[in-house]
Amino acid sequence: MAGPLIIAIDGPAASGKGTLARRLAAHFGLRHLDTGLIYRAVGAAVLAGGLDLGDAAAAEAAARGLDLGGFDREALSRHEVGEAASRVAAMPGVRAALLEAQRAFGRTAPGAVLDGRDIGTVVFPEAAAKLFVTADVGERARRRTAEMAGRGLAADYDAILADLRRRDERDSTRASAPLKAAGDAAVLDTTALDADAAFAAALALVQQRLG
Ligand code: C5P
Repeated sequence: MAGPLIIAIDGPAASGKGTLARRLAAHFGLRHLDTGLIYRAVGAAVLAGGLDLGDAAAAEAAARGLDLGGFDREALSRHEVGEAASRVAAMPGVRAALLEAQRAFGRTAPGAVLDGRDIGTVVFPEAAAKLFVTADVGERARRRTAEMAGRGLAADYDAILADLRRRDERDSTRASAPLKAAGDAAVLDTTALDADAAFAAALALVQQRLG
């Protein structure tokens, strides 16, 4: 008997993977989990507690106490929270503490689309379809700047570009579950694609994988 359907979407920040994951989930009638929010919630908890972002024991305790139910997306989208998330996400104890909850979410019927950095490599290596969504870093910075400005937030292109570069570097070079495409992932570069074209391309790749 076929188990829950899992679609894994990985890629760097602002590559478009979150939007694609949400639209793919709606298309296939699956649940959606933005796993970046989980790491952001841990980073936010460490910041809120006035704790040191280098304190692995404190971050791990925050990860173990996390409630996956209600995230405040608005608060978690803040720039310094993303930076804090990337710091705590490099800690093996934090990742281990969050692994089972992600797997349990995916295994709940009818299945899920999960997006993050290590879904296809670590969380669900057996996923039915895997996409690695990427885009040129300058284009990603442009999109993030426009998105923030659209929400009425202060957005400085150069600062956002520097932030994305720093996070890409930290996420790709960490020892524990680094950002990288799974060997069997389909790579989708969205640099030259608008949201609808990216979705059409992603859907075609996933359908191909699902047979
Ligand atoms: O995707 P988002 O920008 O919200 O992720 C914030 C940070 O959380 C990333 O920079 C990364 O360090 C971490 N993360 C991770 N593994 C995931 C999802 C996010 O390490 N599956």
